[in-house]
Amino acid sequence: MKLQENVLKRNSMRFAAALLGALASFIAGPNAAPAASLQHHDQAPGFYRLKVGDLEVTALYDGTGVIDPHWLNGTKATMDGVVNALHEDPHMLDVVDTGFLVNTGRQLILIDAGAGIWWGGGVLGRLAGSLRSAGYAPEEVDIVLVTHLHSDHVGGLTTQDGKRVFPNADVYVAKTESDFWLSPEIAAKAPKDVRPFFQSAQAIAAPYIKAGKWHTFGGSEPIVDGMQLVPLPGHTPGHTGYEFSSKGQKILFWGDIVHAQRVQLQHPEVTAIFDIDQTAAAATRQQLLPKLASEDVLIATPHSSFFPPLARLRKEGSGYSWVPVVFTDQWDEK
Ligand SMILES: [Zn+2]
Repeated sequence: MKLQENVLKRNSMRFAAALLGALASFIAGPNAAPAASLQHHDQAPGFYRLKVGDLEVTALYDGTGVIDPHWLNGTKATMDGVVNALHEDPHMLDVVDTGFLVNTGRQLILIDAGAGIWWGGGVLGRLAGSLRSAGYAPEEVDIVLVTHLHSDHVGGLTTQDGKRVFPNADVYVAKTESDFWLSPEIAAKAPKDVRPFFQSAQAIAAPYIKAGKWHTFGGSEPIVDGMQLVPLPGHTPGHTGYEFSSKGQKILFWGDIVHAQRVQLQHPEVTAIFDIDQTAAAATRQQLLPKLASEDVLIATPHSSFFPPLARLRKEGSGYSWVPVVFTDQWDEK
């Protein structure tokens, strides 16, 4: 016992001496002034790829912003809870804006195009750069499927001087959506706050309409093999999801089913002030979430607390949790 104690004591003294020696040479040795370590401010390219059956799906980063709590509508108790939670967790409403590219092997299909220069400025609008980083050029895109005509989803289609960013793409949007936002009569009657959305939609659509590249759909007509239209009205009149299937796997591009993910998955009844029909938006979300959770569908969301914004839903208490895909460079989605 005594021997063991002595050995321990001796070893700990040796360790202390070695530590002191190392410290001394660090302070006074030949490398007394450590070389400055240059910080790198560039980031990994803003895309993330995975396979869904035979489809290659690439999430394309457009930018990061913050949801204002005043953009959300819920009961007083729920919204008080959100504001209180923000004191503890000030990044709760941070949000990534994203578009998606599907390469079917025959066609390149973009689903939503980010904000371009039409929403705020500087914070969003990176999608075309992310597309190039992912190895594709805007000229190669064959089809754009638009979930709705808010400028954070279609702004990236058109430059400020009215040129098509995707000159060879045919753009598809629900007829009810196109008719609503492109109507001068409805725009004239719209509340003042909403009018900029009409103006941007009309300016963004104009060069595609002129080129004969703006197409509308009214029902379930086929546009792309293996893709189903999923009407999700409420946020906007013709708000539409796009569900792709391949080899028994499914991915749903669900547009603006949620804006503030960490609030609305736990409280699906909370709406956003941008929802044209608040009641319908909440009802659509309430119907969709349990179905997706039980069917294990992969979801691609334009607005997320995570990047890549690809995940499955799990039931959690009275709401749902977001189970994001885990980063991997072995990108066959299983
Ligand atoms: Zn949006």
